[in-house]
Amino acid sequence: MRFFAPNMDAAARARLRLETRLGTAIAAQALSLHFQPQVDVVGGRLVGVEALARWTDAELGAVGPAEFIPVAEATGMIVPLGAWVLDEACRQAAEWRLDVPVAVNVSPAQLIREDFVDVVAATLARHAVRPERLKLELTERLTVQDPGRAAQQLTRLRALGVILSLDDFGAGTSAVASLLTLPLQEVKLDRSLLAGVTEDPSSWQVLRALLALARSLNLPVVVEGVETPGQLAALRALGCAAVQGFLTGRPAAPEVMGRRLDLGRLSSVE
Ligand code: C2E
Ligand code: MG
Ligand code: MG
Ligand code: MG
Repeated sequence: MRFFAPNMDAAARARLRLETRLGTAIAAQALSLHFQPQVDVVGGRLVGVEALARWTDAELGAVGPAEFIPVAEATGMIVPLGAWVLDEACRQAAEWRLDVPVAVNVSPAQLIREDFVDVVAATLARHAVRPERLKLELTERLTVQDPGRAAQQLTRLRALGVILSLDDFGAGTSAVASLLTLPLQEVKLDRSLLAGVTEDPSSWQVLRALLALARSLNLPVVVEGVETPGQLAALRALGCAAVQGFLTGRPAAPEVMGRRLDLGRLSSVE
């Protein structure tokens, strides 16, 4: 009697198919980017734009990054995929003449490569983007395998002049202190920290403590996943400077984001 094997075979086959299709899509540069605004809480001004990878496959349909990024990481495909994301985000930022940083997510497997800093420098040069207009979003997973190497790479990137942001802070389990000794210019608080913040006093206290910690280290904060006016009001009351969430703008295709940027320019001219 085989209960599990047929299922496992199906799962393994599905996984292999995803891998194959993803490899083809990366080689054909068939992925795309969506862009989500990061805005300042007080004035509503744009302070950054995050590039998020999107993939719609002819056979598999739309596959989200939460599904395909781990596959890309496990197979090494994240290296060419990540290089493409970096290039396309910088190309688009240059086309828009964006005057705030474009933020790009970087996986640990990309960061630890010897040539990563050169790849970043070459990409900036290719599109004539100034280093301070590029923000690299890193997760705490980068410190798990080789913290010394990670710190060394971050120091080299800092010397290049790009902005280093710690993504999803508060979602994981790493030692807070060791993360915050890295040469960072920003920390993004994970959206899980917002759950219950308008109803539950202890959630509010945790968020308040993390904002105070960041402030004491002079680290600017972006809070992720703000969906309701109540959450925004709570963050404003806590003195949080910047947010990124569905309330202030969903991730959008470049055409849509471009129109939003044009509208922003018009209204700031008035
Ligand atoms: P992330 O870097 O933390 O990006 C923010 C994610 O939160 C995005 O999901 C965004 O759509 C979502 N989000 C933004 N505001 C809200 C909100 O108000 N409510 C909720 N529920 N969600 C919100 P997305 O685009 O599905 O990406 C998921 C993750 O996949 C990203 O999380 C990032 O870790 C990874 N990822 C996406 N693109 C890339 C990429 O080009 N390279 C790498 N290495 N990772 C990427
Ligand atoms: Mg991110
Ligand atoms: Mg995040
Ligand atoms: Mg996240």
